Amino acid sequence: MEVLEENISFQVDENGYYGQFGGAFVPEMLHPNVEELRTRYLDIMADPGFQAEFNGLLRHYVGRPTPLYLAKRLSEKFGTTIYLKREDLCHTGAHKVNNTIGQILLAQRLGKKRIVAETGAGQHGVATATVCALMGVECIVYMGELDIERQAPNVARMKMLGAEVRPATCGSKTLKDATNEAMRHWINNPADTHYIIGSVVGPHPYPDMVTRFQSVISAEMKTQLKEQTGNSNPDFVVACVGGGSNAAGAFYHYLDEPSVQLIAVEAAGQGVDSGHSAATTALGKPGVLHGSRTILMQTEDGQVVEPYSLSAGLDYPGIGPVHAHLFQTGRARFLSATDDEALKASFELARIEGIIPALETSHALAILDRIGAGKDDVVVAGYLYEVSLIGCQLSVIRFFNSLIQN
Ligand SMILES: *Cc1c(COP(=O)(O)O)cnc(C)c1O
Repeated sequence: MEVLEENISFQVDENGYYGQFGGAFVPEMLHPNVEELRTRYLDIMADPGFQAEFNGLLRHYVGRPTPLYLAKRLSEKFGTTIYLKREDLCHTGAHKVNNTIGQILLAQRLGKKRIVAETGAGQHGVATATVCALMGVECIVYMGELDIERQAPNVARMKMLGAEVRPATCGSKTLKDATNEAMRHWINNPADTHYIIGSVVGPHPYPDMVTRFQSVISAEMKTQLKEQTGNSNPDFVVACVGGGSNAAGAFYHYLDEPSVQLIAVEAAGQGVDSGHSAATTALGKPGVLHGSRTILMQTEDGQVVEPYSLSAGLDYPGIGPVHAHLFQTGRARFLSATDDEALKASFELARIEGIIPALETSHALAILDRIGAGKDDVVVAGYLYEVSLIGCQLSVIRFFNSLIQN
């Protein structure tokens, strides 16, 4: 890891790069679509009419601003001051809808008639199906055949919302294959379809676009911290990283505030060196994944390694290019928590705060005793997801059930 230099930019540059990460590595046939987005997204997003509609929906449909909650008993336990940003109280139960609202409004302004998306655990699929129903737009969600079996409740939700769920039957029948199918669909229907990517991944401009939509999280944090503590900057911001959209949104307005320590938490699965892990920065190397140059888990000859985490939302072999850059420059510290540590943290939070967190979020909670926060420090951790079983693998549901029964 390099020493943090002054004046490093953490914003995307005009070529779509964060330092040496990012770019748009797409097949020739996708160029027109990506180019259309690249040339239009900033103007559309800056338009006052867009801003008014986006902010209005965030407020009245999603339920923003979400509370910033001082977790008193959790704070006592760790001997510091901990606030939880309650993204679980967003409509549909997580931060993902901030992005899908933004992208559906953008798609409308691009004149698109149909939305295509891919989903692994189904959370992004549900957030996408939700905004398509809201706007009366056709929605096709590709999902690995195996994931369709494992995540039946989310498949039912998407169908109830009027989306068509199409199984990806190739390869490992999981997220990677669903992504390929969704890409293929987009290539074949370039004029009338918009592809909604669910995290800060994919070819430029997706990582920047999704970061901007999710940056409402840290914009609210600043105002709320100012109101509650008198200072809009905390000492630490802690967030879990799958692709990295909740973390990117939580970090965004603090990127150029060096006094705010940014902590990203990856899923170590059964242990970083167990062969069953999703700790990308610990295990990965630079390479190209899903259209951008980033850090990803790969074999010696560059094959993507199948990631593992108990939490379906963190089960991704890469991270967004902005996080690869934050890692490489040392601006953010990357830690990891195992399945067991995350489960333990989720039960603890449930018992002492009356909030059942998502397993994803639980990874961020699991490392709070490792960051070096003292009694005068303010820590914002978060992105809870109270309807946590939505995102869980069936094995976890069984685990919870067995605990409840015993
Ligand atoms: C989907 C999800 C994640 C992982 O996605 P990011 O893009 O890394 O934010 C994390 N936490 C929750 C609650 C999720 O639903």
